[in-house]
Amino acid sequence: MTTPATNQATFSFELFPPKTNDGMDKLKATVEQLSAVGPLYFSCTYGAGGSTRERTFETVSWLRSQGIETAPHLACIGSDKAEIRDIVGHYIEQGITRVVALRGDLPSGMGRAGLGTFRYANELVGFLREEFGDRFHIEVAAYPEFHPQAASAPADLKHFKRKVDAGANAAITQYFYNAEAYFRFVDDCTDAGIDLPIVPGIMPITNYTQLARFSDACGAEIPRWIRRRLEGFGDDRDAIRAFGHEVVLDLCNNLLEGGAPGLHFYTMNQPAPTLGLWEALGLSTAD
Ligand code: FAD
Repeated sequence: MTTPATNQATFSFELFPPKTNDGMDKLKATVEQLSAVGPLYFSCTYGAGGSTRERTFETVSWLRSQGIETAPHLACIGSDKAEIRDIVGHYIEQGITRVVALRGDLPSGMGRAGLGTFRYANELVGFLREEFGDRFHIEVAAYPEFHPQAASAPADLKHFKRKVDAGANAAITQYFYNAEAYFRFVDDCTDAGIDLPIVPGIMPITNYTQLARFSDACGAEIPRWIRRRLEGFGDDRDAIRAFGHEVVLDLCNNLLEGGAPGLHFYTMNQPAPTLGLWEALGLSTAD
């Protein structure tokens, strides 16, 4: 393992933009609780093709108005250079210095891919560097269990390297429940000359049906033994949460002990599961 030591670790939280005013009020209460424990930054997702553009702007503006370090996600598929320039200009006005640069997946029925300039995330990273120099700390996505559309594991690694070579500073992974997949991926990256922090993305387990649906869509594996146990809890949400907490806490401990350079929590806009892990990991002193 060549990842940086844990004293340089980055711990961050991901949010998605709410669809309603009521959702926005709930998000504000969530952020109040989460920001109290001192994460390095909050990131906020963006629907490819601009499907959440205004709601992402609204969420990012509010976070910035609270003085919170914010990393907006920027998904390029279906967009042209003018559109990306416009979005980035908006973020520059708000003092944003960190972005998560992605290709994205167009929502079904939105056939705008052919209209966009960008086909892959490495092209977005290259464009951001060309246009804005070193203004942004750029995070990209990584897939320890491989991207679902990847032709092969070596091809996916090669394409990951293109994003790094284009100027990414760090990567956040898709979530996974098998620490070995992460460690092998990091070792492969090291062998391929990729030298940047690869921060594991952590998905708390709170709802089996929702998790199974996400995992099928994004190619994250839920190991059979976890699936079978979760199925066995039926509608017992407390049992699912208690088991999920135990499993994900073990995963986080293994990752940090093995040298992971931080953790990025997919909070799903719910404070309790992430805070439970944060406290159990003793991260409250990390700033
Ligand atoms: P890329 O790095 O472009 O890779 C996509 C696929 O194309 C891979 O299979 C790769 O191997 C292949 N590939 C890459 N470059 C080339 C090339 N030059 N030639 C041929 N093949 C190539 N989605 C959203 O819409 N909004 C979000 O806010 C969002 N946030 C995310 C945050 C994180 C941390 C992660 C892990 C994912 C997020 N996603 C988001 C999902 C992501 O957009 C999808 O997984 C998408 O399918 C791939 O995006 P990418 O940036 O990894 O794409």
